[in-house]
This record gives sequence, structure tokens and C-alpha cells, in this order.
Amino acid sequence: MSSTFTHSFQTDLFTGKVNFPTGVFINGEWRAGATKLLLTTGQLLTAISEGTAKDVDLAVEAAQKAFDTVWGLNTPGSERGRILGKWANLIEEHLDELAAIESLNNDKNHGKVLETSEAVLGYTRHEPIGVVGQIIPWNFPLLMFAWKVGPALATGNTIVMKPSELTPLTALRVTQLGVEAGIPPGVLNIVTGYGKTVGHAISSHPSIEKVAFTGSTLVGREIMVQAAKSNLKNVTLELGGKSPNIIFEDADLNIAVEWATIGIFFNHGQTCCAGSRIYVQESIYEKFEQKFLERIKQIKLGDPLREGVNQGPQRIMSYIDDGKKSGAKAIIGGKRHGTEGYFIEPTIFTDTTNDMRIVREEIFGPVGVLVKFKDEEDIIKVANDTVYGLAAAVFSQNISRALSVGHRLKAGTVWVNCCNQLFAQIPFGGFKQSGIGRELGEYAIANYTAVKSVITNA
Ligand code: NAD
Repeated sequence: MSSTFTHSFQTDLFTGKVNFPTGVFINGEWRAGATKLLLTTGQLLTAISEGTAKDVDLAVEAAQKAFDTVWGLNTPGSERGRILGKWANLIEEHLDELAAIESLNNDKNHGKVLETSEAVLGYTRHEPIGVVGQIIPWNFPLLMFAWKVGPALATGNTIVMKPSELTPLTALRVTQLGVEAGIPPGVLNIVTGYGKTVGHAISSHPSIEKVAFTGSTLVGREIMVQAAKSNLKNVTLELGGKSPNIIFEDADLNIAVEWATIGIFFNHGQTCCAGSRIYVQESIYEKFEQKFLERIKQIKLGDPLREGVNQGPQRIMSYIDDGKKSGAKAIIGGKRHGTEGYFIEPTIFTDTTNDMRIVREEIFGPVGVLVKFKDEEDIIKVANDTVYGLAAAVFSQNISRALSVGHRLKAGTVWVNCCNQLFAQIPFGGFKQSGIGRELGEYAIANYTAVKSVITNA
């Protein structure tokens, strides 16, 4: 079992050190785990405590007690709002620090009154679910923390959260700011550690009533099985994608080239909604290809805060090799860049067929395919020929065409003349194997509340 944390790591942020506690955080206490988990991005950054299934049990117990006493239905929404508002201000005050750590890592709800008959009054209440488990990935550690923790706490739930074992630092630091803002002990518990131990203990815990997961489709399926087997807990899954960017002949070419570049190469291609399948109508294909290659050549490699691959260069290279072997042509990139750090050149393949792994599987790196299409019917069929359905983009100056194509695409988000744009007010989530449920907007609140109908016979 863990012991109470007594010291913090005193080290320099950018040479492998952090100066805040990096234990697991349970019931308002930092505890040092018996074993350590090493964080590296090529070189050793720091070591953090490795949580265990026993820590998840302790965290669930603390979260349940907090739900029944200081949070949940026992705290007015306005009080929760006050604390969360203070936390938000603290986050703003510490933005530079959090940004530095991140780059180092990589009220009560309103119900409705329902009319029935004169004698019966019915109304609904949106109540917190209870103890919720949250498991997040490494590609946007702070953003994913915010998407999950904010709505769950605002609606009165208590949390056991596991950040990615690769990128736990910002979650730990921002939790300290939450404590400073007044989040009571037990309301938010952080158990750092691995998926197969801590993650599994969360998804299979009989006292956790909901699990919200963001990560790969493979692990999402495993979590849903564990959730079903343990206590049929409610799941929200935000999973992978292989999103099409569709460029029609009447698109503004400069705009399309710029967004197609951002679509696949933003965050080194390590974005769930990366536009990794770029489809261009045949009449403008050559012109587009030329401009696209010119634009890609302007991307600068070498800045670890901007252009590195955070993990899995071997895995990405194996996709590149597989693409070449199966007869596709890398018209740019296709190699590792330099010998230090994890850099892979921005890579675009042509001459692909729809059965190739580089066209069908999520690579999660700076690798895209560029493919010609004939007309609307052709592209809708090809774009929808995937197990994924997270996002899609359509480029055309004919807005009615863009919208009608957008409506026929099986994707949770469709962008028109842009891509990768997310807003707190607009729901986000996947069709098909890209997920279950939606985050952001009013759906974020719905995710963390259970609807109770109250019917009174007057
Ligand atoms: P991952 O699925 O490998 O891991 C995600 C989290 O799950 C980590 O915290 C990991 O420790 C944990 N985990 C692993 N095995 C587990 C298990 N058996 N039980 C419980 N937890 C387990 O994903 P990743 O590599 O961290 O992130 C990349 C993936 O996330 C990509 O597929 C990407 O598309 C997806 N993603 C999706 C969204 C979205 O909103 N749809 C956003 C960001 C990332």
C-alpha cells in the first residue's frame, strides 16, 4: 500500500525534473507508490509513482464518501460552481507553467415539468451518477483532463481518474490547483499507473457507476467488456479515427491546401480526428498535389515543442514500410528525420488501394494518403468505407453541395472548408467504432447525470 507523500522531486523542468508532488492523489493526500514509473521522451524526464488496483479501491472509497457528504446532492450547484470558478481562475493564472509542463509531457441541473393530466404532476431531475471513473490518453493530456473533470464535477459526481502513464504531469499539477481552489478531499482522486492494472481496476470496479474513456478503439472495446461484466456501468467512449478530407473541384485551393496540411500534420498527426485520408476531385488533382507538396516542404522539423513524435516511431515506420511494400508511393517523406529524438518526416502516399493498411488503419502519426475521386456518389461510398466515423471535412465553395455531402457522411463531426476545429459549446464524438456518446456542449452535462422522473398524484 502507498504511504503519505513526504517530499517532491526538486528538479529543473526542461532537463528532466519537476518541482511538484508526483504521487497518486487519494482523499486529498499525495501518496508515494511502492514502485516508480519512468517518464521519457527519448531521455529520462522524471519518475512518478505507479498506482495499483488497491489504490483504485481506496480512491473509490474516498470518492464514495465525498459523494455522500461534501459533494453530490449535498452541495448546492452554486457552491460547486464557486469552487470550479476559482479553480478555472487559478488555471488561467498558471497558464504558462501548465503549457510548459504540457509540452514536457507531451449546479444542480434543471429538470422539466411535464404535462400529463390535471390530476398528475410529473417532473424530471438530472442527478449526479455517483463515483465515476475516467481514463485518458497521452496526446492532449491537459485538454482531455479538462473535458472529463469539469462536467463531471460540475454536475456533482466524484472522480477516480487515471491519466496516461506516458503523460501524467499536467493532471497532477492542475489537481494541486484544484485543491488550492477548495475541491474537498475525496472529490477528485488521481491514480497514476498502467492501463492493465489501474485502468482495468477502474473499468471493472463494482462501485464505479460510470466510466468515461478516451483512447484507442482496441482498449475502448476492452473497457466496454469490463464495464458490462462488472456492474453494467454506463460508458462513454471517445475512440480513434481515420477521417476523410474531401476536396471538390470548386474548392478554394489555397484554403483547402492549408487545412489539409493542418488536418494531417497538426500535433504531428497524433490527433484522433486527423484528416489522414485526403480525397481530391480528379480535375484539380495535379494542381492540388503540387501546392500541397510545396506547403508540406515549409514544415520545419526539429523543434521538440512542435514537431516531434511523442511515441511509437517504430510503429509508425512499420506502417510506412508496409505502405511501400504494398505498392503505394511516398511522394514526400517516408523516413525518420535525424538520429536524435523521435522525428518522422511528414509523409504522403499516393497510388494506394482501399484495402491497404495505410488507408484503413489509424496510424496516429504524420502519415496521410492522397487519393483521386470522380464525383459525389463515388466519394461518399469511399469516404464511408471505414470502421471509423469520428470526423470528416468537405471543401467546396458551393455550400449546398458541401452540406448535402456532409449529411451523407457517417461521421460525428463534419467540417466545411476547415478541419480540426473544436468548440466547448459543440458536441464531439464518434459514429461507428469511433465511440459511444458525446462530449462537450450540453452532452457533457448529460454524460454525467441520470434522469429521474418524479410523478405525483395530486
Ligand atoms: P490507449 O487506448 O492506448 O490508452 C488510453 C488510456 O487507456 C491510457 O491511460 C492507458 O493507460 C489506458 N489503458 C490501456 N489499456 C487499458 C485497459 N486494458 N483497461 C483500462 N485502461 C487501459 O490510447 P493512447 O495511445 O493513449 O491514445 C491514442 C488513442 O486515443 C488514439 O486511438 C486516438 O484516436 C484516441 N483519442 C481519441 C480522442 C477522441 O476524442 N475520440 C481524443 C484523443 C485520443
